[in-house]
Amino acid sequence: LTAPCEAYLATLNAEQRAAVEHGDGEVTRPLLVIAGAGSGKTNTLAHRVAHLIVKGADPRRILLMTFSRRAASEMTKRVERIAARVMGDKAALLTDGLNWAGTFHAIGARLLRDYALEIGLDPAFTIHDREDSADLMNLVRHELGLSKTESRFPAKGTCLAIYSRVVNARAELEPILAKSFPWCIGWAEELKQLFAAYVDAKQAQNVLDYDDLLLWWAQMCAEPAIAEHLGNRFDHILVDEYQDTNRLQAAILLALKPDGRGLTVVGDDAQSIYSFRAAEVRNILDFPGHFPESARIVTLDRNYRSTDAILEAANAVIGEAPERFTKNLWTERRSAEKPLLVTVRDEAEQANYVADKVLEAREEGIALKQQSVLFRASHHSGPLEIELTRRNIPFVKFGGLKFLDSAHVKDVLALLRFTENPKDRVAAFRVMQLIPGIGPSAAAAAMDAMERALDPVLGLQFFRAPARANADWPGFVDLFSGLRSRSAWPADLERVRLWYEPHLERIHEEAAPRRADLLQLEQIAAGYPSRERFLTDLTLDPPDATSDEAGPPHLDEDYLILSTIHSAKGQEWTKVFVLNGVDGCIPSDLAVGERDDLEEERRLLYVAMTRAKDSLHLITPQRFFVHGQASRGDRHVYASRTRFIPDGMLDRFTRTSWPPPSQAASGRTPQPDIRVDLKAKMRGMWR
Ligand code: ATP
Ligand code: MG
Repeated sequence: LTAPCEAYLATLNAEQRAAVEHGDGEVTRPLLVIAGAGSGKTNTLAHRVAHLIVKGADPRRILLMTFSRRAASEMTKRVERIAARVMGDKAALLTDGLNWAGTFHAIGARLLRDYALEIGLDPAFTIHDREDSADLMNLVRHELGLSKTESRFPAKGTCLAIYSRVVNARAELEPILAKSFPWCIGWAEELKQLFAAYVDAKQAQNVLDYDDLLLWWAQMCAEPAIAEHLGNRFDHILVDEYQDTNRLQAAILLALKPDGRGLTVVGDDAQSIYSFRAAEVRNILDFPGHFPESARIVTLDRNYRSTDAILEAANAVIGEAPERFTKNLWTERRSAEKPLLVTVRDEAEQANYVADKVLEAREEGIALKQQSVLFRASHHSGPLEIELTRRNIPFVKFGGLKFLDSAHVKDVLALLRFTENPKDRVAAFRVMQLIPGIGPSAAAAAMDAMERALDPVLGLQFFRAPARANADWPGFVDLFSGLRSRSAWPADLERVRLWYEPHLERIHEEAAPRRADLLQLEQIAAGYPSRERFLTDLTLDPPDATSDEAGPPHLDEDYLILSTIHSAKGQEWTKVFVLNGVDGCIPSDLAVGERDDLEEERRLLYVAMTRAKDSLHLITPQRFFVHGQASRGDRHVYASRTRFIPDGMLDRFTRTSWPPPSQAASGRTPQPDIRVDLKAKMRGMWR
């Protein structure tokens, strides 16, 4: 198949085109595209995939890895649109084959199932999300007596974070403790013991946690025979947002393509914001050095996203960073509107301001969907969510509490998981204890009985539950054996819901909205070919929570996007509001000690600012509520504008009345914006 015309290439600039045409469809030496925000990296990657397909590459042999499932599906759609310009209807057929697109974790899960038998894994493994993992860590901790005897032993979440960091950084425990968890150094021996037992428990129960999906994949690649087979399965491997991969992910890529041929990675070192998950900015900087045949490096300098005023402000923020590969970006988009630095009294006024401006913009024709509100931590949007709800402004929140985090949805999924993998104790514990009369010890006894039996269904049927559970236990056993023997997807989910509903009403006061969630879940399930794919996908990348109790708004509806900065990666909006642009929030007051941490905070602000196309509002409440770190508790502080914004880059706007509210709460009452304004005035008097 050769293209009659390649008009889509004409939309690209020379550098983008060089990246797209590198190798001209052939498997060739590695390619690195390293460039600043909005310079068209993702766009170039999509064009490159389309170009490969147009030039005859087999889409089933293309592996595309992105930062989220949403990014992967947007990318495949874009590829199809581009290819369609050349190939018409045929493109759809071809791009259908492009089904190896997803996050590293999701791809890992699929490959591990494919190769499970080769590597001694039961292919029916289930996947634990972070909360399940922490629960299992806790179970193991109790079994080892670590929590009872030593009350100051790190909490389950901390244990899991340490474990995860060690795994993903491919590091030893001690240096990780010293660098990131210094208060746990004294527990190194116990932690090692705990982690060993945690690994045993996962294996006994046939579960993998998130980190295992990478770790097992990497281990699998360490076996030369399998690595070769796997590597040969894909002609082209392409990765977006490469700056946020960790060492394990880099090792996987290298094992799949040791000579780098067919490998394309794309990223921006100035946007590396995931070091708390062991992301390693060195991956992208060191990429060229890894290959015997040198990598081709393409840089892009033209930004197509933002106006010059926004870009200038963003460049000023990142320009102060000490170590950086990418150069300053330029744009042809002129605008008289500088980004706005808005001073408000407190978070309530901040919420009010945003709601006002969002509605104003909508009046001017900027749909809600073209606007977003970004913040550092999920709980920062609390006051705003209340205000939006009060004013009936629909929104979807990314990166916060997930639809699946609610207890009732987790209950139902746990039941499915337990059916899929009866050894999964975290799931079993959760489900069995829904039944009145079943507590932890009865649940544990039931699981032991299942484990001793040849068949888990028989084990459960012969288990004698405590008499007080007589009313509900038999129904549960019937459901379990029914689902195990005659599984029908997605009808299984309805059976589970019907069984669960009486429990739902018993456990929760307000059952109706929760039942609506479960119906919503059934709708989602209908889009999946099997129970296993549904469980895997939902565990790895759950749908986001929304303002609407009936579930996510339909695609054609209009809604405002609320997102953590981390989850806003790669996206863009006409109008962007950044909340809490104050010292103590960005940078976080936890990060001001270490130089590296501080630099990551700077990059975080850079990522936030570069999401905006036409209009950017950075809001600084003068009073800012800090949520409790254990040692300090919740408190209000007087905050000053984030240190990362240089003077003069933003227009100012103050919404507070003077004098500001109670100054008594803090001995220190800086009013930084006003002070800076005055300074400028003083200077101006003598000019
Ligand atoms: P980020 O670093 O934020 O991920 P990016 O480098 O991946 O950004 P894209 O999202 O690919 O940038 O592109 C930014 C915007 O610029 C998009 O709206 C895209 O459609 C547009 N764009 C990219 N290249 C071109 C081009 N050659 N001509 C016109 N518009 C372009
Ligand atoms: Mg991108």
